[in-house]
Amino acid sequence: MDYQAVLEEVAATVAPQVGRGQAAGYIPALAAVDLGGFGMAVADVDGSVTGVGDWEVPFSIQSISKTFSLALVLSQDGESLWGRVGREPSGTPFNSLVQLEYENGIPRNPFINAGALVVTDRLQSLTGDASTSMLDFLRVQSGNPAVAFDPAVASSESDHGSRNAALAHFMASYGNLDNPVPTVLDHYFWQCSVAMSCRDLALAGSFLARHGLGTDGSRLLAAREAKRINAVMLTCGTYDAAGDFAYRVGLPGKSGVGGGILAVVPGRCTLCVWSPGLDVRGNSVAGVAALDAFTSLTGWSVF
Ligand code: GLU
Repeated sequence: MDYQAVLEEVAATVAPQVGRGQAAGYIPALAAVDLGGFGMAVADVDGSVTGVGDWEVPFSIQSISKTFSLALVLSQDGESLWGRVGREPSGTPFNSLVQLEYENGIPRNPFINAGALVVTDRLQSLTGDASTSMLDFLRVQSGNPAVAFDPAVASSESDHGSRNAALAHFMASYGNLDNPVPTVLDHYFWQCSVAMSCRDLALAGSFLARHGLGTDGSRLLAAREAKRINAVMLTCGTYDAAGDFAYRVGLPGKSGVGGGILAVVPGRCTLCVWSPGLDVRGNSVAGVAALDAFTSLTGWSVF
């Protein structure tokens, strides 16, 4: 596969969509971002990485971090997590409180905010420092020791974090958090604040295409756990638009309100695309279009 040629064709196809949509206005530090950015990277399972546009520009990974916190918990703790968080699409917005009351404080899946708070809580219990353990993982797997938290984004989220605090307190009232709410929120905000480029993220997510093997060949996860994360990404990874994403793109994917999307072609490659203009559901307009174009050009989807 001539990745460079494919990525250049994808970039030309989606150029009219770049700049459309809106930045995530509810986090002031993200609202100020220039909507004109677009980058895309492909990390082949052989370890090579190819990119186009702003593929080496760091952006806020936001909810893409939920993929990595889930992987870290499953790798260290096996399947017991699933007693505290489900794995069904929510059908409600990523920060919704409604479903928690009907289901006794058990979030629908690990990729909505409530579910990610439970995963962060578990990771905190396992490691004693959930956010740093994720940062260390991302640095090693991306091969980039400069990957870092963005303190301005973390404090902006914390200052405007009433909804996440409400979710955390509500779940705590059902006994579904083991650590103090402020500790869980703090690590959650730091995880979301990590800044990475498409290049870094495509490499860091390679284990999902490599059936659990990391970039250096070491086993990070059992193959069946990598399969499960991909399955949850496909069904729950793009907010309440996961059905439409599967229809258009046909790959497991996890988006974030920073405008990034991580997607996986199991056995072949990991993709990361970034463009900050979001649609009403919170997915990057040009990012979804680019992944749609990539799978249309290559014929690589899981279907
Ligand atoms: N940090 C964001 C929040 O908690 C993440 C949202 C997202 O990317 O889906 O609202």
